[in-house]
Amino acid sequence: MTFGRTLLNMAAPAGVLAAAYFLVPVVAELPASLAGLKAYGAYIVIALAASVSLIFRRGRVVLALLTLALAYVSHGPLLNDALDSFRARTVFAALCVFVPFNFAALSLLGERGTFNLHGARRLGVIVIEAIFTAWIVFAGKTEIAAWAHAPLIETTLFAGSPIPQLGLAAMALSVAVSLGAWFFRRAPIDLGFAGTVIAFGIAMNGIARPAVFAVFIAAGALILTIAVLQDTFRMAFRDELTGLPSRRELNERMMGLGRRYTIAMVDVDRFKNFNDTYGHDLGDQVLKMVARKLAEVGGGGTAYRYGGEEFTVLFPGKDVDAAVPHLEALRGQVAAYRLALRAAARPEKAQSVKRRRGAFRAAKAESVTISIGVAQRNGKLVTPADVVNAADKALYRAKRGGRNQVSR
Ligand code: GH3
Ligand code: MG
Ligand code: MG
Repeated sequence: MTFGRTLLNMAAPAGVLAAAYFLVPVVAELPASLAGLKAYGAYIVIALAASVSLIFRRGRVVLALLTLALAYVSHGPLLNDALDSFRARTVFAALCVFVPFNFAALSLLGERGTFNLHGARRLGVIVIEAIFTAWIVFAGKTEIAAWAHAPLIETTLFAGSPIPQLGLAAMALSVAVSLGAWFFRRAPIDLGFAGTVIAFGIAMNGIARPAVFAVFIAAGALILTIAVLQDTFRMAFRDELTGLPSRRELNERMMGLGRRYTIAMVDVDRFKNFNDTYGHDLGDQVLKMVARKLAEVGGGGTAYRYGGEEFTVLFPGKDVDAAVPHLEALRGQVAAYRLALRAAARPEKAQSVKRRRGAFRAAKAESVTISIGVAQRNGKLVTPADVVNAADKALYRAKRGGRNQVSR
């Protein structure tokens, strides 16, 4: 993922947090006739977020919203006495620790659906947290509450915040875990989790000011809603295995092309052989490698996964002459790449022919090649479909010509 897209992804949660900041004084001064909005606004946003998550089957977001809703429900009846009572202090500390913990766990464990065993187990954890908190309150376990509120380190840095240091640590850790998950998986939902925990932290920090609390809890739910929509968009227009834009996006892009463009069809050579020899997992690795090279193709080209081991590169505003050098460079890069075969990927054939597993475990490098057919729009090839067909024919010539080559 490019730096630009990273920033763009961060814009959504950051924008919501900024908007929330400016919304607080507005909400604080809502006229009495709109008092209902102040009280129920956050519930409305949470309900909206939950509906969207259910529709798109993002079970972990449903659970994240549930914990957020629990925090919001607790606010009114339990925390109104400004954290003076043992009960309020206990619930407050529990929320500061458990909510970020749940978000981090959901980030680490990933999506497993809602209405199944996994969903039930996860729900169970939240119920246990609630029961545990209730037990501390009703059994009068003051020592546990005192422990949760005790400072972890000697510092006056956080003295201005009602959040216990344990809660601050949980929040910081949770944000780090979600950002880490986002870094590896690139699912907008993980980034959303990080943003929501920050919103939650600001809400808890402002527990004494109802407008701050309500607005930032609502902001957290809104961040999750946007993340679910972004995730759904990504699923529709991105290929899951390679991360390249998908055929659907290619089709839409082709509808908007001008009068000059070039299309290249790319196909991995003898890929069936590779799969049969090394297995599908390694085959997938090859596709990912080829996709990485394709994503970096020069000349203003954009690569798409057409399907299977076939890819398309689109060069808007370019003719074949301009595109070919970049395609040649791409072909050369793929051919030069040495795939390190891991021990796990033992070739079944080699094993059955001779007991050469040990030999195979030693570093062995394999390479793959690609063939490319390329065509441009002209007087005879007027629609994108025509050009794709011509590129396909050129690809066939590249295969016939001995593969590992660009044909026009
Ligand atoms: P050629 O050089 O003529 O293109 O030979 P080929 O073996 O690549 O051609 P063919 O179209 O017969 O085989 C394509 C193979 O690609 C079939 C299938 O096993 C493999 N394949 C398609 N999609 C995937 C995928 O997503 N993952 C993996 N691992 N293999 C795939
Ligand atoms: Mg093929
Ligand atoms: Mg092939």
